Amino acid sequence: MLIFKTIRNLEVWLEKQDELDKTIGFVPTMGALHDGHLSLINASKTQDITICSIFVNPTQFNDPQDYLKYPVTIESDIEKLAAAGVTALFLPEVEEIYPDGLNDHPMYELGTLENSFEGSFRPGHFQGVCQVMDRLLSIIQPDNLYMGQKDYQQCMVVQQLIQLKQFEIQLQIIPTLREESGLAMSSRNVRLTAEEHAAASAIYTTLNWMKANLRLLDATTLETNARQQLLDAGFYQVDYCQPANPATLSAYRPGDNAVLLCAAFIGKVRLIDNILS
Ligand code: AMP
Repeated sequence: MLIFKTIRNLEVWLEKQDELDKTIGFVPTMGALHDGHLSLINASKTQDITICSIFVNPTQFNDPQDYLKYPVTIESDIEKLAAAGVTALFLPEVEEIYPDGLNDHPMYELGTLENSFEGSFRPGHFQGVCQVMDRLLSIIQPDNLYMGQKDYQQCMVVQQLIQLKQFEIQLQIIPTLREESGLAMSSRNVRLTAEEHAAASAIYTTLNWMKANLRLLDATTLETNARQQLLDAGFYQVDYCQPANPATLSAYRPGDNAVLLCAAFIGKVRLIDNILS
């Protein structure tokens, strides 16, 4: 597996791939890789080459502590990517991605996506996601981009970015890979104690309970019960746990299809998950 730390070296290599007419699959990550990430890489196997990036993007962390505590496991990540058959890893430093510093970035027009659900609890988060994705997509110009349904709203934001910038890139959304308990795999799971880890699967149980009761209970009863189930299981703060329109994230209308979205804290860790009805 090739490893590029600079944009310049990556671009020289990419030009050669372009001359050879290679199709490019791209899997952006923040590292601390698990099988969920590897499932995206697996999906990219239909492409001639797969490029993965590892970059813990400072501009998308609204909480500085979350950024500082973000797990870094670069040695084992490199082993996993090489074993998974990744063609090239892009592993830039912060200065490489943001040579002009972390302030004064362009703003992206994200409409209601910006301030709903994750956006309302993590101000500026999706602008940061767009900043880094704009940089990465402009450099790599993949044919196909692989992202996880686990970050449902992020997929919608990146789709919006692709349209805004008129990138010729297909976004492929890959289903969430889960542990046997139903807990969605996440880099943040390593920060859970054994007890918290066992309790955390309540998110998936609760989302499935909501799905089963979506057409039986009114929205307020559904949400109140779901929140209580999470608190009873050991979560101490529920940011949101409710249905929304899967295409726009606007308010759920009874009878429609829905995405059921949840974000909640267990111990010091904030977990997010979703399922479609
Ligand atoms: P991250 O490193 O957390 O930024 O995630 C990188 C990519 O992996 C994003 O597109 C995530 O949505 C995706 N991802 C994270 N967890 C999972 C999972 N459990 N199953 C599938 N994809 C995932």
